[in-house]
Amino acid sequence: MSSVSATHIPGSWINGAAVPTGGAPFEVINPATGAVVATYALATPADVDAAVAAARAAQPGWAAATPADRAGVLFELAELMAAEADTFIAEEVAQCGKPVRLATEFDVPGSIDNVLFFAGAARHLEGKASAEYSADHTSSIRRGAVGVVATITPWNYPLQMAVWKVIPALAAGCAVVIKPAEITPLTTLTLARVATAAGLPDGVLNVVTGSGADVGTALAGHRDVDVVTFTGSTGVGRKVMAAAAVHGHRTQLELGGKAPFVVFEDADLDAAIQGAVAGALINSGQDCTAATRAIVARDLYDDFVAGVGEVMGKIVVGDPHDPDTDLGPLSSFAHREKVAAMVSRAPEQGGRIVTGGVSPDLPGAFYRPTLIADVAEDSEIYRDEVFGPVLTVRSFTDDDDALRQANDTVYGLAASAWTRDVYRAQRASREIDAGCVWINDHIPIISEMPHGGVGASGFGKDMSDYSFEEYLTIKHVMSDITGVAEKDWHRTIFAKR
Ligand code: NAP
Repeated sequence: MSSVSATHIPGSWINGAAVPTGGAPFEVINPATGAVVATYALATPADVDAAVAAARAAQPGWAAATPADRAGVLFELAELMAAEADTFIAEEVAQCGKPVRLATEFDVPGSIDNVLFFAGAARHLEGKASAEYSADHTSSIRRGAVGVVATITPWNYPLQMAVWKVIPALAAGCAVVIKPAEITPLTTLTLARVATAAGLPDGVLNVVTGSGADVGTALAGHRDVDVVTFTGSTGVGRKVMAAAAVHGHRTQLELGGKAPFVVFEDADLDAAIQGAVAGALINSGQDCTAATRAIVARDLYDDFVAGVGEVMGKIVVGDPHDPDTDLGPLSSFAHREKVAAMVSRAPEQGGRIVTGGVSPDLPGAFYRPTLIADVAEDSEIYRDEVFGPVLTVRSFTDDDDALRQANDTVYGLAASAWTRDVYRAQRASREIDAGCVWINDHIPIISEMPHGGVGASGFGKDMSDYSFEEYLTIKHVMSDITGVAEKDWHRTIFAKR
């Protein structure tokens, strides 16, 4: 794997080429070291206008390409991404501080698999078969590309979040303007470059960097886009929705989460302990589906807390380039301060810090895996998104209480239930309000299945055929099959003929 040296990069990719942008200078910082990874000039609202105009101009031609042609470009993109995997990995590690194992085995191959899935799916987009729902007509459904998609993505999985938003839109025949988080633009810019090399027509995929307040606002509220999709926090998602609503644009929002991790008394305790640590610490806990609220049967509670504390204590925190590292830093120093402040307030609200709660003596934005037991149901650490390597634990009395606690949140993105009882598993999967419920596991995702939440976690789906609903229109075509001038239904208009 190559490493990323601090270079000045163009801040946007518009109409098939890197475009130097005119905004303020910005430094991409490696959170593992504090070193500058790259510098670029932020995009401006004028760059957003140029990107949207390029997308608008390119979209009809792309939509008119045959599904096979669109699939061909996406298959080529997947091949080129695989050929440039080392670049994507190096950039993801440098800009996020991701452990190299995670970038190598999850972020990059997962993104490539997603492109491959949609390359195939592009060819079986279809409306419903024609039928005569009225005796005098044949009805059929046509699906069409919705047009130009504006999308805004977060910093936790920059490449995967870009792929989840961009690729189904491209497969459906849309053109896209994407704004990545300003602290992690590298892999999104590389994705656009590689897509152009794969044969994607100029203007079909455009990237504008820049801050959310400036460029994000301009993009979400742009008059000349058709759909606004967003992955990020619930608060910003609502602002994005409000900006898009000014023009009546369709939105899709993938927002925050506070996933319950319910351990019933018949669970395999070792599996639950192992799963809780993995589910809480993946990507330093900066995962919207991460296990954050362990809700554990009273009989297992003490053993669960002791077991999780012990496994967390052995987690290797350090250099993301070292394949033996388990946990990298948080994505920025500012975010580490936010996580540390939330943890430091937890004991005032009754939480007991079992392990962690400190930053290790390392130069980067690191934070030790943290387990907080006995948290109060109304405490900040239990209710609000921390987005760090922090797991809270509470006990429950019976199954009703467990499921009540699982649903006692405004969020509804993901959840897991740990049990060997098939009826309990069925009940949990039925009654927990979330876009995904895992049974005896927590975190795995696959391209064929949808990802997306309910409640304050947003609406609409990424991945899978379900995501096409965001990017396609539905048109009813109703054809007369009688051939007569005086149609039967005309009697409702012409009384005396
Ligand atoms: P964030 O602060 O909401 O930012 C997300 C994106 O929105 C960034 O590109 C940001 O730009 C931009 N933005 C900020 N203010 C904006 C505004 N007023 N108008 C338009 N865009 C604006 O989220 P984050 O801190 O990057 O990511 C963490 C959050 O994402 C967590 O809440 C997590 O749960 C959520 N997330 C959800 C999913 C899911 O699938 N449901 C997946 C991953 C992450 P700048 O950062 O450049 O200012």
